[in-house]
Amino acid sequence: SNNLMAGKRGLIMGLANDKSIAWGIAQQLADAGAELAFSYQGDALKKRVEPLAASVGSDFLVECDVSDGDSIDTLFAEIEKRWGKLDFLVHAIGFSDKAELRGRYVDTSAENFRMTMDISVYSFTAVCQRASKMMPDGGSLLTLTYYGAEQVMPHYNVMGVAKAALEASVKYIAEDLGKVGIRCNAISAGPIKTLAASGIGDFRYIMKWNELNSPLRRNVTQEEVGKAALYLLSDLGTGTTGENLHVDAGYHVVGMKAVDAPDI
Ligand code: NAD
Repeated sequence: SNNLMAGKRGLIMGLANDKSIAWGIAQQLADAGAELAFSYQGDALKKRVEPLAASVGSDFLVECDVSDGDSIDTLFAEIEKRWGKLDFLVHAIGFSDKAELRGRYVDTSAENFRMTMDISVYSFTAVCQRASKMMPDGGSLLTLTYYGAEQVMPHYNVMGVAKAALEASVKYIAEDLGKVGIRCNAISAGPIKTLAASGIGDFRYIMKWNELNSPLRRNVTQEEVGKAALYLLSDLGTGTTGENLHVDAGYHVVGMKAVDAPDI
């Protein structure tokens, strides 16, 4: 444990269970002394999120569905009421119809395209808009992305297009808010077995491929993503904004199959 986040208060969005990337991040932040609030989607998740939050010393939980602007307003009104200000925000939310996370991207429906972009891209802008108003002393905003934004990955489809837009929005937000001392970054995480990931076709194959072909010859853990988040959200990261930090065992630098990788 360390004191990197002592005196800092922040909101974690996207905790579903103990496999969530949001959980790996929350644990590192709590360990570094941060005070945390959590938003969760829908009452069904409440009983799963409550004990996790309690285990890192938080009883501050607010329901929020990011597809609903009023729900986002309610969330930030609650934070305003209880804390008045905010030092950081973590957005670990993405969603698409799993029927379209297989097959061809070109077959994406208009309805699912709009929903995916709304929940996985616009929601980050929407929360940054509100959070930045509560950061008079500056702050740090963070979202989660994936390499499927940069290169074509099997089955990632419309989610890849959404992540590309999310990564672009990180850069625009970094410019807009940099002059008031607020940083905005993304972590591009390698594949991790979570609820959201299980919706992607052949996800086990993608994990195995990354394990065999990344420079570190393994996959990354939630904890490693958490530690990178701690850097970006704490004062270790004060010189970094608009960045897309790859926490992927180096997979993004690789141009072809490793010579020692067996056929899978
Ligand atoms: P997860 O299923 O644990 O988390 C996804 C979260 O999104 C859930 O908590 C869910 O409730 C929330 N969510 C979905 N729709 C919502 C809505 N309308 N309103 C509010 N919340 C909503 O899975 P995860 O893998 O931890 O995903 C977190 C982020 O990390 C996502 O953006 C995902 O794309 C990204 N990511 C994941 C991987 C991976 O391999 N798991 C890799 C790179 C990036």
